[in-house]
Amino acid sequence: MLNFPKKTLKFIQRYLLRQQKEIDENLKKVSEDDPARSPALAESSEPGTDSYIADTHAKTLVLEQQLKNTKTSIMTALAKIKKGTYGKCEKCDKQIEVGRLMIMPTAQYCIADSQKAVKK
Ligand SMILES: [Zn+2]
Repeated sequence: MLNFPKKTLKFIQRYLLRQQKEIDENLKKVSEDDPARSPALAESSEPGTDSYIADTHAKTLVLEQQLKNTKTSIMTALAKIKKGTYGKCEKCDKQIEVGRLMIMPTAQYCIADSQKAVKK
């Protein structure tokens, strides 16, 4: 069992839940702002509109993907909190530094292993 302070864990869990909600709201906003999904804009045939739509739509997709990736890592972290495996490095099974998790609650590796991964 990991030696993780309960109070810290609760704090991180609350933080992650809040983040998850924010991301859901952002995802909704991003998709509403996408002109390719807006009937009014899609119907207009002014010159240049098509490329504007395509351009904005492409950016929207990138943003959406980023938000979804973040959401996935948040959900993974929350699931680990439930299972009681939160804070365990996925490479070496040691506990990830608490300070690191406070800054990056979705971290999957300890500092040493994440540095190794970057160098590769
Ligand atoms: Zn490690």
